[in-house]
Amino acid sequence: MGTESTEAAIEALLDEQRTFPPPDEFASRAIVADDSVYRRAEEDPEGFWRGLADEFLDWLTEPTKGLEWDPPHCTWFADGELNVAANCLDRHVEAGRGDRVAYHWVGEPESESADLTYGEMLREVSRLANALRTLGVSKGDRVGIYMGMVPELPIAMLACARIGAPHVVVFGGFSSESLAERLRDSGARLLITQDEGWRKGGKVPLKVNADAAADAAPTVERLVVFRRTGDEVPWNDDRDVWWHDAVAGEPDECEPERMGAEDTLYLLHTSGTTAKPKGVQHTSAGYLLHAAVTHKWIFDIHDDTIWWCAADVGWVTGHSYIVYGPLCNGTTSVLYEGDPAYPDWDRHWEIVERYQVNSYYTAPTLIRSFVKMGEDYPARHDLSSLRLLGTVGEPINPEAWVWYWKVIGGERCPVVDTWWQTETGGILITPLPGLTTLKPGSATVPFPGIKPAILDEQGNPVPQGQGGFLTVKHPWPGMFRTLWEDDERYVSNYFSKYGPETYFTGDGAKQDSDGYYWLMGRIDDVINVAGHRLSTTEIESTLVEHEAVAEAAATGAADPERGQRIVCFVLLKGGYEPSDELAEELRQFVAAKIGKIARPAAVLFGDDLPKTRSGKIMRRLLKDIAEGHELGDTTTLRDAAVVDDLKQKADVALGRAG
Ligand code: AMP
Repeated sequence: MGTESTEAAIEALLDEQRTFPPPDEFASRAIVADDSVYRRAEEDPEGFWRGLADEFLDWLTEPTKGLEWDPPHCTWFADGELNVAANCLDRHVEAGRGDRVAYHWVGEPESESADLTYGEMLREVSRLANALRTLGVSKGDRVGIYMGMVPELPIAMLACARIGAPHVVVFGGFSSESLAERLRDSGARLLITQDEGWRKGGKVPLKVNADAAADAAPTVERLVVFRRTGDEVPWNDDRDVWWHDAVAGEPDECEPERMGAEDTLYLLHTSGTTAKPKGVQHTSAGYLLHAAVTHKWIFDIHDDTIWWCAADVGWVTGHSYIVYGPLCNGTTSVLYEGDPAYPDWDRHWEIVERYQVNSYYTAPTLIRSFVKMGEDYPARHDLSSLRLLGTVGEPINPEAWVWYWKVIGGERCPVVDTWWQTETGGILITPLPGLTTLKPGSATVPFPGIKPAILDEQGNPVPQGQGGFLTVKHPWPGMFRTLWEDDERYVSNYFSKYGPETYFTGDGAKQDSDGYYWLMGRIDDVINVAGHRLSTTEIESTLVEHEAVAEAAATGAADPERGQRIVCFVLLKGGYEPSDELAEELRQFVAAKIGKIARPAAVLFGDDLPKTRSGKIMRRLLKDIAEGHELGDTTTLRDAAVVDDLKQKADVALGRAG
């Protein structure tokens, strides 16, 4: 290693060779079956999106403008007017599809389920929208939403969209402090919540948390509380109103607000594990268009497709692919309230069978849990309705990909690995399932009209096969427009490294000789061993190839001689026991597969890994554990006990005990 530019890039060592062309049966009826979309978008990206804006959206005033770009800021369709809720509901009802099911809702308690049609959604949304107006909410006011996965959550979001009040959804698993911080940051005037939620057979005290948050967020004047479990909850007569009381007597029609294309639809705070969360700001038209087009094309949504995005609505994945994309397309979706392991690990497969789900979308972290639990669970159910599988959230290890394809997809369903971020609004790098030959572990190619580039520290494109920083060179409609009341941070975080025309994603990536993109994790996760910059993703994917390993996380611990040494945390599959021999075998396995330079200094076995509530590994904590530091903030952790156990093991293995 020597020159500056190679040091600044990331070494790419893994070489996955398996390929999966689209099955003929799938390709012959795919929504996008003709690769001319790529050429059209390449030749005229603006014209491409304009055409789609006519096809996918109902406008109150047709836009005459397309992209206006004053780097790093842009607008799309700026003089157009529309209402997002009307695009998601009214037009389907007006077209005679009011009886179509919008959501097959499944409660966590097994006896509970309900179907909500587009017509019913429209009535409920209109009533709540009227109630919000009665409570004093008007266009531009921010409304916080802190709920579980009940149909009233999308109803609340659409009621806000109907009256032009940006919503700020906060994941129902967050603490009252996290909620309060987001309410304060956005200056929310009203908070919609529920008495309690269901999770893993227990009750989550949403109202109690909401009370504490509202006390710590002075802008919040009112709480609207949906009754879910019916248990008694603390009540403040001056401030709180039951949802059912608020909507009682409200008409079931509500004139939708005329919104400018660029008016804010919502704020959503990114999961940032260290600094203050960033209030990512999304628009009405551009965002909705991007969500709807990507949903239909990537997940191959036909009129009769039953769709299930198994994320939580509290994350951007839920916003774009449970609420806005599917409703804009008039799709029938599954909405599941609870935990994938409740009452047992086959809950998702039981739901797939019950509703004959065709397209299913989830995160690698859950797929790895399914792998760990074994094939018996999916084998209990008929999964033959599935036609397509998707993943998002992290790089997926090739072994987990192949398992998903084989065991869940029955070797017949394309697996779309979709790369995107809260900031991007919708998917940017992805296969189109009727066209793209898949490679396990690769998100494959840019969506039509998206122009990524992989750069070194100096801003030069890295040579093919070499890892570098993933950037995007041209605006797309669903891109966030700024950070809420902090445009300076928008510029400095995303548009200073390579200048105002180049969006800096913060992810590492490489491109192979076919031009396919391989995501290599966040830049901050790169491990530097004796001048070699290694990707945590590659080391983890290699470990997961070993038959004993269900899940792995790699981190770098400071090393006086070599810069950093590699410390790996491993979760074993059922039937395997931790031992020194197995740890040694895994170290040699990595060395043999990707080179001695990547041989871990230590392999530690745990019962779980420290994860955020969205299932992402908290690498900052792994580093603290590996380096024997006091642990940083653990409040966003899903299960805080996990880290104490790992810390003890690390201290023993790395000779720091006692
Ligand atoms: P979020 O904070 O939830 O917006 O997460 C966005 C980040 O998740 C990206 O910057 C990536 O690091 C990661 N990510 C999302 N999807 C993928 C994917 N398909 N492959 C690799 N990494 C992904």
